[in-house]
Amino acid sequence: MKKVYIETYGCQMNEYDTELIRSILKANNYEFTDSQQNADVVFLNTCAIRENAHSKIYGRLGEIKHLKERNRNVVVGLLGCMSQNLRGNLKRQEELVDIFAGPDSYKRLPAMIESVLTKGGKKYDFALSEFEDYGDVYPQRVPGVNAWIAVMRGCDNFCTFCVVPYTRGRERSRSPENVVAEVQRLAEERFKQVTLLGQNVNSYRADGYDFADLMMMVSEVDGIERIRFTSPHPKDFPDKFLEVMADNPKICNHIHLPLQAGNNRILEQMARTYTKQSFLQLVDKIRDKIPNVALTTDVIVGFSSETDADFEDTFEVMETVEFDLAFIFKYSERENTIADRKFSDDVPPHKKTERIVRLNELQKRISLRKNQAVIGQSFEVLVEGPSKKNPNEWMGRTDGNKIVIFERGPFKAGDIIETEIVDATANTLFGKHDLSAHTSARHALPILHETN
Ligand code: SF4
Repeated sequence: MKKVYIETYGCQMNEYDTELIRSILKANNYEFTDSQQNADVVFLNTCAIRENAHSKIYGRLGEIKHLKERNRNVVVGLLGCMSQNLRGNLKRQEELVDIFAGPDSYKRLPAMIESVLTKGGKKYDFALSEFEDYGDVYPQRVPGVNAWIAVMRGCDNFCTFCVVPYTRGRERSRSPENVVAEVQRLAEERFKQVTLLGQNVNSYRADGYDFADLMMMVSEVDGIERIRFTSPHPKDFPDKFLEVMADNPKICNHIHLPLQAGNNRILEQMARTYTKQSFLQLVDKIRDKIPNVALTTDVIVGFSSETDADFEDTFEVMETVEFDLAFIFKYSERENTIADRKFSDDVPPHKKTERIVRLNELQKRISLRKNQAVIGQSFEVLVEGPSKKNPNEWMGRTDGNKIVIFERGPFKAGDIIETEIVDATANTLFGKHDLSAHTSARHALPILHETN
């Protein structure tokens, strides 16, 4: 049996794709190794969203070069978005790579490996499909509490800064029956939470059902306690969807709502299809329908032609909304995007740095204040396992997706426990569990909960 080593970069969709790749290769008699030294095949499943994602891969290929020098037979594959985006044109280290494959080509990987092993040469496969949704592949997941499940792939939005419509193709949704069947299997495997994934997840539409319908169907699966989704686009939030979220206790009260920018001219240039005002109205509507909702966001600073005054609009929206958490990035132009063709990356680096520092400081203050405000309150926390920093402490998440660290106790991963918050930083809550409170928790005694 040939051994495969896979490294994954980028977003949750890439993590999910690696699970698909593992399943496809396993069905073709490949096994997996954690050691690249022992591998017959080394795959890098890559990301193209930002320049530093590319730089990381170039760095890794430099290291893999030594591997190939020691063992000329090892097959090296570059998979995913960067591969699709550059289409084999790596500019450097191209010689090192035997297989280039994009996100819709994974079912053909076994044949590509076989061809390289038996005939040598290189294989390129960048075919994008309007239909491939991998609904017939059951991902090979690591057992745990949360399972990612892609309910749609691709994107039709063509935000001008984004490579996704070019690397992942047109938007397509899996049938609800197919999604629900996978969720039922996940429940049988004792996963407690599913996170529905899509590049533009709330524009899901299949067989006459929309995303609100899909969420309701998924919530009917016994054994699944929590449902999350990411990432939605602010343009697709009908009342029905928010009402389903508000009424259904299994759907977590957390929305990741990418702002990207707060200035109308920049938003138009980004082709985001909303304005500063309509975004703020949407936030009010969401908070009106789901009062305790946690809101997080993505922001890009220094997009083409962004002035100091434009940036102040973004700052003002962040100050007004008070997101629970924000992922803030400096704009980096991506090859082959609309922005690459039409605009120039003309904001000086020191301006981008100045703006990202200001926004990060603002967000840190807001996150800290919001987290400290819940000290003394109790939350249901889904236990995920030992904390990475200290194995004597455990880690879980609130319904609003806040990380809670607490003392190890008589519970297991997958339990939902009532936890009182006793301290907080900008990123983390610290809790103590009160065993007597477990009897009143929504999901019964943690001790009785089965783990994964
Ligand atoms: S919605 Fe815009 S930012 Fe998101 S994946 Fe689609 S094109 Fe990219």
